[in-house]
Amino acid sequence: MNSTSSLQRNHTIDQMERQSFDLIVIGGGITGAGIALDAASRGMKVGLIEKEDFASGTSSRSTKLIHGGLRYLKQFEIALVREVGRERAIVHELAPHLVLAEKMLLPLVEGGTFGKLATSFGLKVYDFLAGVEGDDQRVMLNKPETMQKEPLLKEEGLLGSGFYAEYRTDDARLTIELIKMAAQKQALSLNYVEATSFLYDDDQKVIGVRCRDLEGQRDFDMTSAYIVSAAGPWVDNLRKKDNSFEGKRLFLSKGVHLVVSRKRFPINHSVYFDVSDGRMIFAIPRQEITYIGTTDTPYDGDINHVLTNSEDETYLLNAVNEMFPDIHLRSEDVISSWAGLRPLIYEEGKSASEMSRKDEIFESDTGLISIAGGKLTGYRKMAQRIVDLVAERFEKTQGRSFQECHTDAIAFGGGPFQGSAGVNSYLEALKMKIRESQLPEFYASYLVYNYGRQSDAILQKMAQYSDAPEIALARAEVWFGVENELILRPLDFFSRRSGRLYFNIETISTVLDAVLDDLSDCFDWSVQKRQEEKELVQQHLHEAAHFEYSKT
Ligand code: FAD
Repeated sequence: MNSTSSLQRNHTIDQMERQSFDLIVIGGGITGAGIALDAASRGMKVGLIEKEDFASGTSSRSTKLIHGGLRYLKQFEIALVREVGRERAIVHELAPHLVLAEKMLLPLVEGGTFGKLATSFGLKVYDFLAGVEGDDQRVMLNKPETMQKEPLLKEEGLLGSGFYAEYRTDDARLTIELIKMAAQKQALSLNYVEATSFLYDDDQKVIGVRCRDLEGQRDFDMTSAYIVSAAGPWVDNLRKKDNSFEGKRLFLSKGVHLVVSRKRFPINHSVYFDVSDGRMIFAIPRQEITYIGTTDTPYDGDINHVLTNSEDETYLLNAVNEMFPDIHLRSEDVISSWAGLRPLIYEEGKSASEMSRKDEIFESDTGLISIAGGKLTGYRKMAQRIVDLVAERFEKTQGRSFQECHTDAIAFGGGPFQGSAGVNSYLEALKMKIRESQLPEFYASYLVYNYGRQSDAILQKMAQYSDAPEIALARAEVWFGVENELILRPLDFFSRRSGRLYFNIETISTVLDAVLDDLSDCFDWSVQKRQEEKELVQQHLHEAAHFEYSKT
């Protein structure tokens, strides 16, 4: 390790300060990352700033599905279902190790949300809108077939099920990989840089952003022809800074997921099932764990620190125990959790779960463009809409033209792979190497689904460390993350780069000290800074597993 990363960071800040951009993007969630890639790949000079870590907002706290949104069909949002449905296949093609095909089981129960005929028809329409073909098309199962697929389901009241195609991802890794690909197209992106205010010309048009480097504790200015706020739940805060907070506004709805061991909740497939209050939730198996979510409740607390509470936990555990009556999940079974905020567009008289998930673009008199709402799944199309708008303005005002959107042809994320088959054969080859390295076998899929072919570089680096295999692997991942993925803090690694905080939480205590030592060397931390970072990780471990300290 070395401190070139710190030098590199300072160099990037100097460049950000010196350059005049075509487009500044505020917010390094999936929306901002998608916009940065789209704009940079069309030839715009792009700068992106993120006040915490990339994907630390909503984009690491979703259900992690790239899905067409069956529930939106029920709300007759046909255009939305068609768009996101088609996007699933495109994003899967672009990064098949990161966006995995996943069959979903939809149990049909007496008095449930979906009736048998309506589901059969609805899923057919869903497949049709999304262009799903062949074996991937939905099949309807009778009761015995359903019980065979998922023996833990409640038999009483079960009518059958629909079995249909969706995709599963890791939202934070998707975001990071887009940021990296945008960097390859010359976009400059930095985490831990906050937009604190805007700069205006004499006509009160926005021409730049005053930034605070939260690592170096210094302020600097960036200037640009256009500025887009993709700040998710913080969009209204930035509109207030711009004095343009009027008309439509955000409505924040909290969504919680719980993680339990796969052994405690051993389902075979992802299941999308009814809750007694008329909502529906997911249970999703993922390697060694199963996660359950989500809640959907109005939120007016601190948006920088959103936590699971015991009410959320009770709601989700009861829902599972109702539909899977032999499981008897209890609070002690919850090993991790995450809570996020949906930045929805407020609609008078509607409940949180009734409000549309459509994205919306706001433009203020100063020229600040804001985008909020939408879905992870639709990130590419949202980006295209924003960049089309900016390109049109350039054409009109300066006669400058840019390429058309072509992000549907930019593979990213450590590929390329020839579809799922390519990913599987790479996985098989990696299993051999994992055995040779004396790591538990699950690390093969952990590496492939997180890093794709970049796993090779990580395993090569691992061989240079003489520690126990699990520690050597974590150190190699941290090295890779510092060199390539702008890791600055331990939580960047444990949460957003590797997903360990949610999916492999029990591995953290084994590797924590080694990770802290390496980051400490790399960034020249004082003893006190190392201790603070350690306490921060421990606080997050505690919050993930024990929520608001209510179940210690
Ligand atoms: P964010 O990810 O929140 O990014 C905004 C970023 O802006 C933040 O990182 C923040 O730190 C930064 N920022 C804010 N202010 C500033 C500032 N002043 N300066 C610099 N940076 C700033 N969608 C799906 O498609 N599939 C799903 O399965 C799914 N499940 C969901 C489940 C839940 C519980 C929730 C809450 C959402 C779910 N969604 C899902 C929706 C999806 O997660 C969101 O639409 C998406 O992540 C929003 O991304 P974003 O980039 O707009 O916002």
